[in-house]
Amino acid sequence: MSLELSEKALHIKPSSTMAITEQAKLMKAEGKDIISFSAGEPDFRTPANIGEAAKKAIDEGRTKYTAASGLKELKEAVALKFLNFNHLVYSPEQIIISNGGKHSLSNVFTAILNEGDEVILPAPYWVTYSESAKLQGGVPIVVKTKKENAYKLTVEELESAYTEKTKALVLNSPNNPTGMVYTKEELEKIAEFAVSHDIYVIADEVYEYLCYEGTEHISIASLNNEIYKRTITVSGLSKGYSMTGWRIGYTGSSKEIAKLMNSIQSQQTSNPNTIAQIAAIEALTGDQTEVDVMRTAYNERRKYLCKRIDEINGLSCIEPQGAFYVFVDITEFLGKEYKGQKINAAADFARFLLEDYYVAVIPCEDFGFDDHFRISYSVSMEEIREGLDRIKKYCESLS
Ligand code: GLU
Repeated sequence: MSLELSEKALHIKPSSTMAITEQAKLMKAEGKDIISFSAGEPDFRTPANIGEAAKKAIDEGRTKYTAASGLKELKEAVALKFLNFNHLVYSPEQIIISNGGKHSLSNVFTAILNEGDEVILPAPYWVTYSESAKLQGGVPIVVKTKKENAYKLTVEELESAYTEKTKALVLNSPNNPTGMVYTKEELEKIAEFAVSHDIYVIADEVYEYLCYEGTEHISIASLNNEIYKRTITVSGLSKGYSMTGWRIGYTGSSKEIAKLMNSIQSQQTSNPNTIAQIAAIEALTGDQTEVDVMRTAYNERRKYLCKRIDEINGLSCIEPQGAFYVFVDITEFLGKEYKGQKINAAADFARFLLEDYYVAVIPCEDFGFDDHFRISYSVSMEEIREGLDRIKKYCESLS
């Protein structure tokens, strides 16, 4: 035998969102005055009632294994949330609780993909979809959306990406990194395509609570029974409840797929953290005031941020309607120079910005767009103000 490593593992890129966030944290720890727009992580504390529920669970000794697919009471709470918020009927047997949305997605890919199956990813796409699908033998088929379509996937684009090997489409609305939210009409067209071509839709709806000023989140699975059967709805507690570190995600799917994911999870990780699951019940069933407070704060930041970006010559963005990201176009700066160094892509733009102006943003090459960067506005207004002042100065220095 040789000591050769796994081909699949060798082809997996590390998560760039995690890497840049980590780098910004390290620079901060070195004493640098960093403003980080990198992490897709709420800056708010987890609401107190959720923390209290966790403390109580520890005090009561509720610290043992649960069923591998999650606590029955949590599945019931998720089922109720699916019903009331998403207009989706999933029974507890159709629900799997996992270690965060990322883990839920990995379970889905493991349950549905065979070697060589193609997975359509409308770009820009969150960095993990491609790598997670590849780990399960999937082949990502990237479809680049257009700015003039607000970076939303059209049926014509879907049509051109479709082959005999297409197994699934990953649809993320509200979207990371664009902040776009698909309308009912747009979803209906995509659903019609998925049903007529008999493919799965993996609907990542983790930003569902974060829609602004009348924009409505619609779950594609809620449109009709045919699309419901082909959709796996993925969500989690991280974004809406500011519970990133608790690692609770979940899926709603057919019983058949849920059963497979249950087997997979029972062999790979067992249950997600019991205390976090108990806290998640409180999050979903307790007082929701904090969710609204956070959404209101994001909305204010969103508006201010877009206004500031608009005022900077050379940068442009489409105002996001959901999530907490702005997707910024830097094509006008391509070919320009910073201190004699050429800007060939958003990665160069972001590197100089971080090195000299101490502002961290995510260049979107790994999202399938190398001429855009992402700003996460899950930071305070003061930081947004200061960060945008620095970005403006930096842009003005490019020639
Ligand atoms: N989803 C977040 C982001 O896009 C968290 C980091 C990650 O897991 O990628 O920044």
